[in-house]
Amino acid sequence: MPAVRCLFLTGLSLLVLLVGAPAWALDPARKVDEYTISRWTMEDGLSHNLVHAIQQDADGYLWTGTWEGAARFDGRRFTAYDAGTVPGLEIEGVRAIAPRPQGGMALSLGRVGPGVVRFHQGHWQRLPGKAGTLPDVSVLRFGPDGVLWIGTDHALFRREPSGQLQEIESAHARLANERVLAILPLPDGRALVGNRHGLFRIDRGRATEWGREVGLPETSVLAVQPSRWGGLLVGGSAGVWRLEHGRAQQITGDRVEAMLEDRNGNLWVSTLDGLRRYTQGRYETLGERDGLMGRLAPALFEDRDGLLWVGTTNGLYRISDGPVFGLGRSNGLRDIYVRAIIERPGQGVWIGHPMGVDAWQAGQSRAVPLAFDGKSDPSVLSLANARDGGLWIGTYDQGVIRLPAAGAEQQAKPWRLDESGGLPSNHVRALLERADGSLWIGSNEGVTVYRDGRITRHYDADDGLPDGNVYVLYETAQGVLWIGTSNGMAMMRRDGTVRRWTPMSDFPAVAAFDFLADADGSLWIASDRGLLHWRDGAFVQFDHRQGLPNNRLFRLLEDDNGDFWVSSNRGVFRISRPALTAVENRHLKRLPVEAFTHADGLPSSQANGASAPAGWPMRDGKLWFATANGVGVIDPDDARLQRTQGVTLVIESVEADGRVLPLQARYALAADLRRVVIRFTGLNQRAPERLRYRYRMVGFDRDWVETDNGIAHDAVYTNLPSGKLRFEVQVMNAPADWSKTEGRVMRSVDLDKAAPWWLRAWAMMAYLVLLGLLGWGVLLLAMRRHRHRQHRLQALVDARTSELSDKNAQLEQAGEANAQLLEQLAYQARHDPLTRLANRRAGDAFLAEALDTSRREGRPLCVALLDIDHFKAINDRYGHAFGDDVLSQVAALAEQGIGHHEGVLIARWGGEEFLVCQQLPWSIARARLEALREGIAQASIDAPDGGRLRCTISIGVAELEAGQDLRDLLRVADERLYRAKQQGRNRLVAG
Ligand code: GH3
Ligand code: MG
Ligand code: MG
Repeated sequence: MPAVRCLFLTGLSLLVLLVGAPAWALDPARKVDEYTISRWTMEDGLSHNLVHAIQQDADGYLWTGTWEGAARFDGRRFTAYDAGTVPGLEIEGVRAIAPRPQGGMALSLGRVGPGVVRFHQGHWQRLPGKAGTLPDVSVLRFGPDGVLWIGTDHALFRREPSGQLQEIESAHARLANERVLAILPLPDGRALVGNRHGLFRIDRGRATEWGREVGLPETSVLAVQPSRWGGLLVGGSAGVWRLEHGRAQQITGDRVEAMLEDRNGNLWVSTLDGLRRYTQGRYETLGERDGLMGRLAPALFEDRDGLLWVGTTNGLYRISDGPVFGLGRSNGLRDIYVRAIIERPGQGVWIGHPMGVDAWQAGQSRAVPLAFDGKSDPSVLSLANARDGGLWIGTYDQGVIRLPAAGAEQQAKPWRLDESGGLPSNHVRALLERADGSLWIGSNEGVTVYRDGRITRHYDADDGLPDGNVYVLYETAQGVLWIGTSNGMAMMRRDGTVRRWTPMSDFPAVAAFDFLADADGSLWIASDRGLLHWRDGAFVQFDHRQGLPNNRLFRLLEDDNGDFWVSSNRGVFRISRPALTAVENRHLKRLPVEAFTHADGLPSSQANGASAPAGWPMRDGKLWFATANGVGVIDPDDARLQRTQGVTLVIESVEADGRVLPLQARYALAADLRRVVIRFTGLNQRAPERLRYRYRMVGFDRDWVETDNGIAHDAVYTNLPSGKLRFEVQVMNAPADWSKTEGRVMRSVDLDKAAPWWLRAWAMMAYLVLLGLLGWGVLLLAMRRHRHRQHRLQALVDARTSELSDKNAQLEQAGEANAQLLEQLAYQARHDPLTRLANRRAGDAFLAEALDTSRREGRPLCVALLDIDHFKAINDRYGHAFGDDVLSQVAALAEQGIGHHEGVLIARWGGEEFLVCQQLPWSIARARLEALREGIAQASIDAPDGGRLRCTISIGVAELEAGQDLRDLLRVADERLYRAKQQGRNRLVAG
């Protein structure tokens, strides 16, 4: 049948489209209850809890149509579009949504109220023409050719991309005036249409009852979809059929509310019992037990990340299979407080908890009977594989239990080793079977060795072990045993010698919960003080200071990529090995830690430790961790995929002073603008809470602003400067390493804020002119002041100069006076003030000098003493003053008589006595003295009484003789003067 072949080819071409989508999808190998189910309701911002339609736009927003309008969802928050937020369009009961195939952000909404409306670049618009007012639109579908098929409660329409609307005039009674339930547009312009009577084909406006032709039984058709397994899937009130090769093959007979084949080929059918997944003829149901509430689920949608979205009467659900899921009671575990996990080759995973051990194999959980010898199932703390395929079980209070290998149960029974058999304690938290077949048992009493059916050795504090509870026993490839306890740790070498590390002294932590030896011989330790690296005899510590969300670390596992995964009470952390190395080498300050918590699908963020092994690296690469609420299973490959998954970043709006501006790449902002709000969002529907943002305003912000937890989506700026600005925002999946460009997406918006009038160009010019004038004025003023100051300075200098020269002159005068005075003093010092003759001192000096030269040069020296005769009588008669006068006149006569010659001196010797010293030959000297005496005797002196007075002198003269000194010479002269007096006076005695 050519029509069927054509349809088949159509199906194939659609299949190619689907294959081109991202490779991620719900893991079909997982049981449906291992998926993570998230739910949003009106409390979270959904318009109404009855969700009719779900679609995704080109940016990645999820659109929901409800009874109370549409809502756009970015994974964290809903933006509601309803009668209240979009005035004039009365967006209320939204029954259909269709993304435009040519891309862009256009969406069309069919409504209970009349018409189809469109959303494009932030704006709503009623479709022009009749389509905008069509009543009761129930289905909207775009064809690959851009044609919009519109089904209503009464008719079917075709709307060309040009806007032309054509009603499909159907003569077919079973199509006319019926509600359209499903449309599948085909690439060749035809379409398949379902209603309550069946499936119809529309070909150039003509309808045929195509379903009947290919054998589809009587059923209403709610959904039509090409299948990747070939043919078409048709779902309706009587079940689901596959139409292929002209035949209809029923897949289920249950009533279908909605139907969807996902990209892996799993068929999802929404029934009254819940959501069913059909895989290879079998199905599993997700229902209320799994948290999927609501009897009706009319909307099913697979987004581009392969997530399944379900619209129900009770809200919007997302079914995802992140890198993490949990196993708990619903998977058959009898107790969810999981203590120990171990994979047993060929025997699945064995899980220890307070009710014993459950074995997990092929998706089934089975209780392992451990009650024997009259004892109940023990609370299990630890597990260890035995080399013979058996299992060692450490318990809370029953010591160690041994289970035989699978298949060997008949030959060997389970048995127990406890205190009654010599074990120091029944409380066993760690077990290790070593290469030599010995079992090492860690309890709260130390480490006990069991070998060949008996306890051979016990180590405790006396042997150098820490005295705490033993939490873990770990053997390296070199045969070194590491012992972690609640109070430090120890290492036992092959020769049995022990080295111990004690808290607060040489150990940076208190408890050691797990060990992991590195190929380089160093050791990693999960402790209560973070991750420790014991290398070259020293500990490197990684804790909250390096970015670990919690310091108490329990189980340390390594994935196939070499990264560390460590459990804690704040979830499981992935720490990349290169980052650890970089921090250790101080190339990096903080560790980019990726935390997986309850929010990611871990059954509890509270992991369990202090029991071993508290987690296990499975051979399929998955990591299982013991938590307080079941087993947490992490797929490191999925986690890596999630990290590197593409993110879309959208700038949602730019708001200026409360006004939302139309979206554009560049904005011109007014000068007086005060507040700019830029809203952005990253779109990663798989893990929106892992998105991290940073943004900056280039030209204003110095650094990037990092949002704390990915919740803040708004950048608010007040007081932006004028000029060219550029807003940049980046998004990345956590842990965000902004230095990497891979996985980092950036969007930007240019803002051009006008300058206020006082900063415009002409204002600037005016400022320049004003500034010039001002400068000029200031310059003039400065010059004037300078000149003024110069004048004052000059005057001051002049004044000071004249003052100085006055002082100089005074000083000069004073100097002269001084010199005169000195001269005067010098004169006075040598002269007699009354007679003006040389005084006695000058006479003495002259005499000494003369004696000296006379002796040296052999010159003659005559010394004469002259005394006025009867001078007392003159005084007595005429008074003392007149006596002075007479003295002066006689002195003057004597000086005159003796004359001024070299080597001649007359001096006043005292009273009325004179000395005459002559360096002249004796005869000449005598003659001159005679003449002198004669002259005085001849002279007459005026007396006060008017009379004349005569005055004579007596002279004693001596000549220097050899061997005489001055005293001798003067004594001789004085004797001769005395004789002259005695001989009658007025005479000269010279011998
Ligand atoms: P003779 O002939 O023995 O020298 O008798 P004379 O009176 O000169 O001798 P005498 O030594 O007894 O007295 C000297 C007097 O000269 C005493 C003194 O009053 C007086 N005489 C000494 N020096 C001065 C003087 O400077 N002025 C005055 N008016 N009288 C003086
Ligand atoms: Mg005398
Ligand atoms: Mg006398």
